[in-house]
Amino acid sequence: MSARTTARTSPRLAVPVAAISLLIGATGLTGLVGVPAAARTGPPSGSEGKVPVAEGYGGAVATVDLDASRSALAVLRRGGNAVDAAVAAAATLGVTEPYSAGMAGGGFLLYYDAKRGRVFTVDGREAAPRAMTGTSLQENGQAIPFDEAVTSGLSAGVPGSVAQWDLALRRFGTIGLREALKPAIEVAAKGFVVDQTFHDQTVANQARFADITSTAALYLPGGAPPAVGSVFRNPALAETYRELGKRGPSWLYGGRLGAEVVATVKNPPVRPGTTRKVRPGLMELSDLRAYRAVERAPARVSFRGLEVYGMAPPSSGGSTVGEALNILEALPQAGLHEYLEASRLAFADRGAYVGDPAFVDVPLRELLSDGFAKERACLVGATALAHPAAPGSPDGAYGPCQAASPGKEAPPAPEGPETSHLVVSDRWGNVVAYNITIESTGGNGVVVPGRGMLLNNELTDFTFGPAPGDPNLPAPGKRPRSSMAPTIVLDDGRPVLAVGSPGGSTIITTVLQILVNRYELGMSLPEALAAPRATQRNTAQTQAEPAFIAAHGPALIAKGHSFAANPEIGAATGLEFLDGERVRAVAEPVRRGGGSALVVRERR
Ligand code: GLU
Repeated sequence: MSARTTARTSPRLAVPVAAISLLIGATGLTGLVGVPAAARTGPPSGSEGKVPVAEGYGGAVATVDLDASRSALAVLRRGGNAVDAAVAAAATLGVTEPYSAGMAGGGFLLYYDAKRGRVFTVDGREAAPRAMTGTSLQENGQAIPFDEAVTSGLSAGVPGSVAQWDLALRRFGTIGLREALKPAIEVAAKGFVVDQTFHDQTVANQARFADITSTAALYLPGGAPPAVGSVFRNPALAETYRELGKRGPSWLYGGRLGAEVVATVKNPPVRPGTTRKVRPGLMELSDLRAYRAVERAPARVSFRGLEVYGMAPPSSGGSTVGEALNILEALPQAGLHEYLEASRLAFADRGAYVGDPAFVDVPLRELLSDGFAKERACLVGATALAHPAAPGSPDGAYGPCQAASPGKEAPPAPEGPETSHLVVSDRWGNVVAYNITIESTGGNGVVVPGRGMLLNNELTDFTFGPAPGDPNLPAPGKRPRSSMAPTIVLDDGRPVLAVGSPGGSTIITTVLQILVNRYELGMSLPEALAAPRATQRNTAQTQAEPAFIAAHGPALIAKGHSFAANPEIGAATGLEFLDGERVRAVAEPVRRGGGSALVVRERR
């Protein structure tokens, strides 16, 4: 965590290409690479400090946060496996990164099981309450203002994380929920040192937090954001985790805690006298009772002889990363121009075809087929495709190359750059890649009174409409389409790499670009993560970090691309196996202040 928080605390910066040199001049590379990570030392809980790359044996972890990485390491050292450690780290992020993740949120977990030699996935995506319909996010036939949805009970999805932790632990772990929550309880009770990022995120949320009494009481103690360097404790969350460990998930999914969540969603505790319109939600206790985490078959493509596993719908992560990789493989070369074009086309298909598979017939097999990829790759030429690219026809009938047809402009999909991703491996060779989220920075801004946890606003990931035929319109019990893309790469059936990132729909391009950097451009994983990023999501302009534009802009502009500067894209974590057992865990060196990589043992 660090002082470098622009992308998280202000609306995403997007300036026209003409202004780019100015921007680079103003913030320069120093804005991206020169800011030292603020130390989140926390109460001493190990000898390891915060470094972005660690190599060794016996297990490894990379998260955005030192406390969370230490929690995972403690579990690994006590003999736990990668799933145990991943849950411990996620629960700790709910304490130290409470605006990005938490037990009232959701996520997607990918797990390589060494004994079975297989990749499994657990979907803990939040769900719409059963009273939600295709028009619930509209008023008078129009989408309700996005900002009003962000801070509301209406956008709170039925939380998935606790059910997901429980399912993942019972299915693949070696410890129970109670044990897995212990490190997080300790951090919540003893506290962690407030760094610049936590402070700045609180400041950015101050106005809406002040309008919710329970949130102001927790995150604006004495009426102001906690000072940098102060110790922040969340005894209410420590107690909530403790109770949860004792009573089990049914305490939330139908029990007393669930009733409190429902009461908060239906009647958010707004400050008397506020003019803010905080819409109530539709969630009932029966929605919580009905919620299930779901084990799903992973999305899978082969790429350059490797098998790339990702998250299947309702995330669009696996299908979009996979389709783009297939397109790249079908092209004679795969450089940065091709990366942008493959991503553009895959995003056109994502928008047209991907939603919750329980409600929408997602043509996943065809989207990930080589035939479809060849048809799409045909459209990639020497210059950038006209915007917007039209979706293709993943119908199984793939013919000769056709001319590109114009697509329709999609309505803007505002989305924050939040969420967290973590990776863990263990001494047995199991690997976890895990994305967790409460959607916006600070979720819906509403803390459940006395419970120390923010609710999610994941239902803003639905298409609000009106948008007839859109696969991502809300429906009773439906899960909003996600972009989360935890990814595990196997070579000959054995894991070689795992990677993922936060960043809304830029998650997909960040993961794709890291894979392109690693496997097409020959970078090491630390280089692939650190390299400047660009994100083309079937938008008129490609958003890119200033350093990307400085390095590659002229050549790509000559090919018809245009750029809008985005100061920071993603905050990835990954790991790779170097020679079978030796593992290298990798976090961001700079973005979000740099993450934390730790290994169980440095020597064999
Ligand atoms: N809600 C986003 C998704 O599921 C994740 C949050 C974010 O990174 O903005 O794709």
